[in-house]
Amino acid sequence: MSTSPEKPLILIADDRPSSRELLRLVLEHAGYAVIEAEDGEEALDRARDGNPDLILLDLQMPGLDGYGVLAALRGEARFRNLPVLALTASAMRGDRERIMDAGFTDYLAKPAGPEVLRETVARMLRESAAQSLEREETA
Ligand SMILES: [Mg+2]
Repeated sequence: MSTSPEKPLILIADDRPSSRELLRLVLEHAGYAVIEAEDGEEALDRARDGNPDLILLDLQMPGLDGYGVLAALRGEARFRNLPVLALTASAMRGDRERIMDAGFTDYLAKPAGPEVLRETVARMLRESAAQSLEREETA
C-alpha cells in the first residue's frame, strides 16, 4: 500500500503478532498508514521517530506495559494531547476507571470488531483535530 503524507499515521503496539496483523488489516483497509511495535520500549521508539497521529496501545505487554508506555508519552510535551486508545483483554470491573484515570483517550476490549475499531479511531482523530484547532485559536 502506498503511503501519502495526507494519510493519518497510526502506531499499533501489541506483543501478539496476530493481533497486530488483524488491526493493521482493518486500519490499512480504512485508508490509514500503519507502523508497528511489539513491546513497550519499541512503542516509545516508534512514537518518537514516527510521530504518529494516534496510537493503539495494548495494555498487557511483557516488560514496559501499556500503562508504562502511556506515562512516558504523557511526560513528553509533544505527546501530551496525542490520542491513545487502550486495548485490553480483560473486562474486569473498574478497568475503565483505571484506564481513563491513567490518561488514555479511550479504550476497547479485545478482540475489537472491525466496525467499532474504525468508528472509534475515526472519532478520536476528529476530536483530536478539533481540539488542536481550539488550542491554536486560544493560544
Ligand atoms: Mg498483550
